[in-house]
Parts: sequence; structure tokens; C-alpha cells
Amino acid sequence: MPDLSRPVGAIDLGGTSVRAAVVDVNGGITGFATGATEASRGPDAVIDRTVAVLQDSLARASVHVSDLVAVGIGAPGPLDWDTGVIHEAPNLPGWKEVPLAARIADAVGRPAFLENDANAAALAENRYGVAQGADNMLYITVSTGVGGGLILDGELWHGAYGSAGEFGHMTVDFEGPLCDCGNRGCIEAIAAGPDIAAWVGQQIAAGRASALSGRADLSGRDVVEAARQGDKLSISALHRAGRAVGFGIINVAHLVNLEVVVVGGGIANAGDLLFDPLRATVREHLLESTAPNLRLEPWSLGEDVGLLGAAAAARSRLVGGA
Ligand SMILES: [Zn+2]
Repeated sequence: MPDLSRPVGAIDLGGTSVRAAVVDVNGGITGFATGATEASRGPDAVIDRTVAVLQDSLARASVHVSDLVAVGIGAPGPLDWDTGVIHEAPNLPGWKEVPLAARIADAVGRPAFLENDANAAALAENRYGVAQGADNMLYITVSTGVGGGLILDGELWHGAYGSAGEFGHMTVDFEGPLCDCGNRGCIEAIAAGPDIAAWVGQQIAAGRASALSGRADLSGRDVVEAARQGDKLSISALHRAGRAVGFGIINVAHLVNLEVVVVGGGIANAGDLLFDPLRATVREHLLESTAPNLRLEPWSLGEDVGLLGAAAAARSRLVGGA
């Protein structure tokens, strides 16, 4: 039986940066380190960088690698959580069937476990955050994309082929805008940062007034900022995004009977501008008999969800969990 009182080395691998830290049994983070992913250099270089950032983190935390009970890695998918292989990753060019967990384990000499980043975030909020004690919960990230992680009966739900939790590609408007996946009216095609910005751009082109009129290369962050300053079109864009996410939550809650939904990611930082329409939509349309006490919460761990989730995933897997 592994000694779970020992710390986990946590890695959060993203397309632009790789972050690492040492996470203790209570979710305490020490030795935070980060570096550029330099994704364009390909898998071997990125793995070398990742190991270097982890070693940097261990040095900062004054923890020897042999003290780690395991290493947990959160990464974008599609991936195989069970074998630790990344099938491909849109933000990591050249990654095809890369056995990331095995490569990291070989490099550091400790067991290593891989988990999809949105699933990892769900575990983080469930083990250390606002959803502690909730055995049936959904985590949603609203950022440059929209993703999700589902916990049922206290364990991550991976599904038949490991790809469960694709909240962003649930259809909420079958005549809606085209999504990158080829379908229409996915939640992501309405609520993801670039899609919010694209909608604002279209509305401006159609003649609607906005403080963002004439701005090139609009981002979701620009829209959130303009909404905070009172720009009516930007407020409408976040309202529309909040409703799309809200209808998605209703569909999942009706299907699997949730206790808590946690919404994180950069767009979630818009606060009430997103959560007010989201909550109103859920309040209006949820069948109360199915989920009388459904809680809707903003993320409580912020940008640490990735690292804490990677650590939580490793701990769960060490004891044979999902
Ligand atoms: Zn889609």
C-alpha cells in the first residue's frame, strides 16, 4: 500500500505553459514552478521541459524526488487516462499516441498518472474545494474552450472510451452557430471566449452599438472587460453565454441528478455577469423534483485547479480509484 501521507508531484501541462508543484495530503501547494511549454519544438522537447519544471519545483520545495508517493499529470486530451497515453492534443503540435505518463515515470523514477485537465479540475474542487463531500457533481470550465468533468458516486466518470464529460459539445441550439467540431449550437460555440468575441463582432458588423466597435482581434477577455464597464452588447454576449451553460447544466442535472455544479475558467471570472443569467436559467427550467438542492458555485481554487487536480487524480489512482 503506498504511503498516502507523502506528497505528490503535480504537473499541469498546457499549450503555452507548464506548471508544477508539490502537493501535500491536504492539498497544500509548495514549490510552485512554471515555464514556457515551447510546444512547437515537439513532444520530446516538451517532455524534457516538463521534467525540468518538476525538478525545479522539487528544489524550491526542498523535497527529494524519492519522497514523492507519485506524480500526477493533467493535460489536454483526447487521452487514455488508464494507460497514460495522449492520443493527440490540438495545442501540442506533433503529439500522436505519446505515452506521457510512462515517459515521466521513467524520467523521475516514481509512478506517474495522467488525467484530462477538465476531469482533474473536477477532482480538485471535489477533494479540496467548494464541492467537498459532493458525490455527484459536474465541473465546467469556460475559457478558450468549454470542457467538463463529471463525478458520479464519488469517482470520476470516464465512460466507455474515456471521453466522458464533453460538456462543451452538448447541443443547446440545433440551428445555432457552427462549432469547431462540425456540429451546430454546441455550448462551446456560444460560450467559449473566442465564440463570445466572434458573436460581438458579428453584432457590431450588423450595426449594433458597442464600446468595442472598431476593435480588431477581439478576445473573450475584452468582452468581459467591456461588460464590466457597462457595455450593453458585451453584457448581452455574457448573458447569452450564461444561458447556454445554464441549459447544458439543466440537461446534465436531469440525466444524472447532480448535487453541485462548479463553473471555472477565465470567462467564469466575469462573476455575476455570467452567473446571474446562468442561475436564472437553471432556476427557471430545472425540474425541482429531480434536484431540489442543486448548488451552482464559481470555482474556489482558481488557477490552482490544474495542479490540485493532477495531484488528486494520482492519489485516487494509487488506491485503485478512477
Ligand atoms: Zn462542438
